[in-house]
Amino acid sequence: MVTTAALNLLGLDRAALEGYFEAAGEKPFRARILLRWMHRRGVTNFAEMTDLPARLRERLAEEAEARPPEVMARHESADGTVKWAVRTDAGDVVETVLIPEGARTTLCVSSQAGCALDCAFCATGKQGYNGNLGAAEILGQAWLARRELAQRGAAGSPVRERALTNVVFMGMGEPLLNFDAAVRAVRVLTDDLAYGLSKRRVTISTAGVAPRIRELAGEVDCALAVSLHAPDDALRNELVPLNRRYPIADLLDACRVWLGAQGPRRSVTMEYALMRDVNDSLAHAKALAKLLQGLRCKINLIPFNPFPGASFERPEEATVQAFQASLLRAGYTVTLRATRGHDIGAACGQLTGAVQDRTRRGARYAARGVVAGVAAHASVQGLALGAAS
Ligand code: SAH
Repeated sequence: MVTTAALNLLGLDRAALEGYFEAAGEKPFRARILLRWMHRRGVTNFAEMTDLPARLRERLAEEAEARPPEVMARHESADGTVKWAVRTDAGDVVETVLIPEGARTTLCVSSQAGCALDCAFCATGKQGYNGNLGAAEILGQAWLARRELAQRGAAGSPVRERALTNVVFMGMGEPLLNFDAAVRAVRVLTDDLAYGLSKRRVTISTAGVAPRIRELAGEVDCALAVSLHAPDDALRNELVPLNRRYPIADLLDACRVWLGAQGPRRSVTMEYALMRDVNDSLAHAKALAKLLQGLRCKINLIPFNPFPGASFERPEEATVQAFQASLLRAGYTVTLRATRGHDIGAACGQLTGAVQDRTRRGARYAARGVVAGVAAHASVQGLALGAAS
């Protein structure tokens, strides 16, 4: 008997779900009811969706599923950050991180199993790459976060329920190289019938896939963060190899195109991971200020988070402050990302998981003593961050 994988409805946005219902001869408004059950109430058993007709529930159970990812591990940090390692349909393990911080609760999602870009300072890239996550696998991470938050607020729990307020695509992978699934996930995250997040509070973060940045605004409304990390091409080529393909001028041009499609009050967040004696001098700060002149942006500084075998170090506190002060003097809005979840390997750039590397990069780095996510490192380090507002 040939078994085909059931369609995972967790990954369909409103239009796709309506289309699926219509094709099946069902009324499209029932798709909206289903959306609410799955994402707002966290119900994945069709039989429990009592306001859908019984025959529709049976039919859904036969040909589809609403299946969140399997949790392989859950770690909770002393600071309240939670990191999950989840299994993908392809058998990889990726990580997702939930960060409660004041009034804000941010989820940092992974969009790929590993990452093909191999940025010099990022643990994820060291383990290699094994493909895109489906929209259901990205949204499944939000589904888990919603359940965690609901459980925390359940009767008898000492913790008051809080809602998910922000999602950042800053986990493992490059979301703009998994464009369709990332866009579809953003649509569900910002749909009032599903997660209902503000469009300003769902952030796609990219290492700089310029052509896709230009396309993004035409597809979906969300916030944009760009991992810049260097004020000139020579240095950026070293840190972010993708820069050789899309150099800084092209990248900033793409940002201008994206901004042109936004209202006048929107801006791009420029992320800059500060690495000791690499990109953290006052000369770098001044060059950065000059480079970004006239671009509507905020700058988010991330002091480098070390991982085993990393060849960079975090700058002294005073260096970070001087760098920030220089940019503030130049008139920029500059935020400093607080490190969260460091004790559970959940800080920015620490996420690895266990990925079946198709590139052999993982093995190469392992031979050089760089830990990263080679399967042997089963504890699964996570990524994370404090993120865009
Ligand atoms: N591929 C996307 C999203 C993943 S990275 C992107 O490049 O934006 C999320 C953020 O964490 C990026 O800004 C990335 O550059 C940063 N980061 C990666 N490794 C880091 C490390 N070791 N320390 C601090 N920040 C890091």
